[in-house]
Amino acid sequence: KHFEKLKELQEEAENFDFKDHPNLSKFSDLPLTEEMKKGLQESGFIDITDIQREAIPICLKGQDILGAAKTGSGKTLAFLVPILERLTYDKWDEMDGVGALIISPTRELAVQTYEVLLKIGKYCSLSAGLVIGGKDYKFERERIGRINILVGTPGRILQHMDESASLKLDNLQMLVFDEADRILDMGFKKTIDSILSELPPERQTMLFSATQTKSVKDLARLSLVNPKYISTSADN
Ligand code: ADP
Ligand code: MG
Repeated sequence: KHFEKLKELQEEAENFDFKDHPNLSKFSDLPLTEEMKKGLQESGFIDITDIQREAIPICLKGQDILGAAKTGSGKTLAFLVPILERLTYDKWDEMDGVGALIISPTRELAVQTYEVLLKIGKYCSLSAGLVIGGKDYKFERERIGRINILVGTPGRILQHMDESASLKLDNLQMLVFDEADRILDMGFKKTIDSILSELPPERQTMLFSATQTKSVKDLARLSLVNPKYISTSADN
C-alpha cells in the first residue's frame, strides 16, 4: 500500500511543471512525501524561494541542471529536497552505497549543508555523512561504507575515493556541485576532474552557482548532459 502511494507520488512529481502552477508558493504545494513535508515544516521551511520553485521540479524529474542564483537565495534546499525524495522513491538502503554526492567548496559550507540535510531529512530513512579536511579521518573511513548521502570538500572526497575501500560509488545516482564558482575559484579544477573521471557516467548532475563565470560554464559543458538552465533575478 505504502509502495503504491510512493509510486503515484513519484509519477506526479515527474510530471510536475511549475509553469502549470503559477500560484505555487509553499513547499506543501509540491508533490513531496509526508516524511519530507514534515521535515521541512519542523525546520521552519514553509514558503518556497524562486530558485527552489523552479529547480526542485526539474531535479525531481532526474534532469541535469545549471542553477544560478545569488547568495542567500536558498540553493541548498533546491538540491537537498530532490536528493532525499529520489532516493526514497528508489528505496535506497545501507547496502546500496552512496546514492548522492554533494561537493562543497569549503569545510564551513559542507558542515552547513550537512546540518540542513540532517534536519530536513529527519524522517527519511537515509544515512548522511560528512567528509572534510581537518576532521577525524579514521572516523570518517569507518563509517563511509554505510553512507547514502555524502557531503564533502573536493580534496577529502578524492582522498577517500583513493584510500577507503568500503566507499561504494558505483551506484551513484546524483552528483551536486554546490557553489561551483567558489569550487573553481579555490583552484579545485584538477581535483574535480579526477573525481569526475572515477564516477559512473549514468547519473544526474546538478550544478549550482552564485555566478556564471566562464569556468563554471566549462565545468557545466564537461559534466552536464542536456541540462536545464535556471537563472533567477537578483531581487529574489
Ligand atoms: P544560497 O546557497 O543560495 O546562498 P542557502 O541555501 O544557504 O542560500 O539559504 C540562505 C538562507 O536562507 C539560509 O539561512 C536558509 O536557512 C534560508 N532559507 C532557504 N530557503 C528558505 C525557505 N524556503 N524559507 C525560509 N528560509 C529559507
Ligand atoms: Mg549555498
